[in-house]
Amino acid sequence: MILPGITNKTVLAESESQDCIRLIDQLATTHHLEADEYLYLLDHMGPFEYAHLREKARRLTDSIYGKQVFFRGLIEITNLCAQGCYYCGLQSNNQTAHRYRMSEEAILATVAEGYRLGFRSFVWQGGEDAYFTDERLVKLIRTFKADYPECVVTLSIGERSRESYQALYDAGLDRYLLRHETASPELYSRLHPATMSWENRMRCLRDLKDIGYWVGAGFLINPPGQTNEDLVKDLLFIQEFQPHMCGIGPFIPHPQTRFADKANGTADQTVVLLALVRCISPEILLPSTTALGTVDKEGRSKGFAAGGMVVMPNLTPPDIRKFYEIYAEKKNWGDEAAENVRKSIETVESLGYVAALTRGDHASYKEK
Ligand code: SF4
Repeated sequence: MILPGITNKTVLAESESQDCIRLIDQLATTHHLEADEYLYLLDHMGPFEYAHLREKARRLTDSIYGKQVFFRGLIEITNLCAQGCYYCGLQSNNQTAHRYRMSEEAILATVAEGYRLGFRSFVWQGGEDAYFTDERLVKLIRTFKADYPECVVTLSIGERSRESYQALYDAGLDRYLLRHETASPELYSRLHPATMSWENRMRCLRDLKDIGYWVGAGFLINPPGQTNEDLVKDLLFIQEFQPHMCGIGPFIPHPQTRFADKANGTADQTVVLLALVRCISPEILLPSTTALGTVDKEGRSKGFAAGGMVVMPNLTPPDIRKFYEIYAEKKNWGDEAAENVRKSIETVESLGYVAALTRGDHASYKEK
């Protein structure tokens, strides 16, 4: 079991509690711990110690981004995928999935609608769909940049060659999201078919950073077989790699996968990792994910309280949005885009945060 003290709401002995508080304070100040120190925290921390961690994480967030929550308009451009991640409802061998692909015109029309609603930052997400060749994407990115010079797009369409990432970067793309899913090669191999390699995933992330992208990584909480030792590897990876963004989401089983009967990760487990990552990297852009809101109706607010400060309202046309089902029961506010955005702003503001429909830059960003 991961995070037993959090899961079982353990009240620690005084000396253990003090050890945890000391490590949390050290992390929030130096942004660095050793593997055995992370493991101690994950093995011991209970709700009391987490409350201390959360306060540190939120204070770091406030000191850099204030109460802003960055809005990014999510467009799920294709649900076709050549890959076979065992936990994902879009894996290529799921014959029951209804497949769709948006045309370039439909993507740009959705961007136009998002722009009209106030968005200046977009995420184009999809499976690994061979239709989206470099040539097609370069054309699409160039059109987007020419039509919306003050806007940015983050692309999230999986593993590609270095040459491909370079071509897209040269066309004007500068943000790419590729969750590493787990920094443990052994766990990775239990969650993916032999055709997928952890080494290639890491190669992609390093190529992206080397080229100059703002890179988003990210990992799953409580997929089958995960241990605290695996999570330590994720924390050490974030500490070393220093991504600009990190998507941390609970594992949620999908009925058409081999993990259909496995337990999901909880919001409480997820926010502990969110807060730890915030303390490791104070400037990192951290989404309070849709998956968090799916496993717990308080999930989003728990995410903000732990240092989350990005949301991605779904702009994908409602008639196809329901088919982008990575996990079951995706909470996607299944309305028209305008209604979706209104509800998202209302939620964020009712919790005491400020909805920022801006580029949502990382704190290190400097105008060129
Ligand atoms: S997680 Fe991504 S790459 Fe893996 S099967 Fe799902 S859509 Fe494809």
